[in-house]
Amino acid sequence: MKKSWEFLKNPQIVGSILEKAFKIERAKVCSFSRLFQHLNNKEVEMMEKFLLLDPEEFGVKMELFDISKGTPKRLLDINQRRNGKFLAVQYLPKPVYLAFKIMNKVLEAETGKKLLILSGYRSPAYQAIVFLHNLKKYDFDFLKVVKLVAFPGYSEHHGWPAGKQAIDFVASSNEDLKVFEKTEEFKWLSENAHNFNFYLSYSRNNGSGIRYEPWHWCWRGIAARK
Ligand SMILES: [Zn+2]
Repeated sequence: MKKSWEFLKNPQIVGSILEKAFKIERAKVCSFSRLFQHLNNKEVEMMEKFLLLDPEEFGVKMELFDISKGTPKRLLDINQRRNGKFLAVQYLPKPVYLAFKIMNKVLEAETGKKLLILSGYRSPAYQAIVFLHNLKKYDFDFLKVVKLVAFPGYSEHHGWPAGKQAIDFVASSNEDLKVFEKTEEFKWLSENAHNFNFYLSYSRNNGSGIRYEPWHWCWRGIAARK
């Protein structure tokens, strides 16, 4: 029988989880055990039930990553500036960041434009928080959010155990994601990113159930080395 998601429809508990989670230092790389230290029993219970849901039951077919090993050891802290101001710190495994840096240099040399990292590594626990944040934002329209945000364990933002790591890009020429696919940066990525082992995961009509995401590119270095 299909598991119900209705237990998530609790604005009070979800709101409290989010408030506590966003105060945690380095929340983006937080483990479940560290997150649970900040939550009460009811909140932990909700998170544990959430982890038992299978996205396929809600129309989304995605790879489940082995998240038992926890956060990758060598994550780099990435500090970026836009118009002189520092952006929120992002994290990436070193080989992925190096591949991105090389690609970004070539992009800049050829077009004069650059990419910034909007989102790099996100731990499974933080992915759960991102999901709940969107659930609240979209007024608990679960079936809508399922198409926008991966379940914890299923996101390429923590696909590192399988040699994959997604980055959400933002264009230096226009930071609005809604027009990302119209930017010169996107056009260049479409033609050249594969040379740097970056691939568009959710193309139009991609068949996974996830919406078209022109800004989400996944580095698949290990698979490409086979
Ligand atoms: Zn993404």
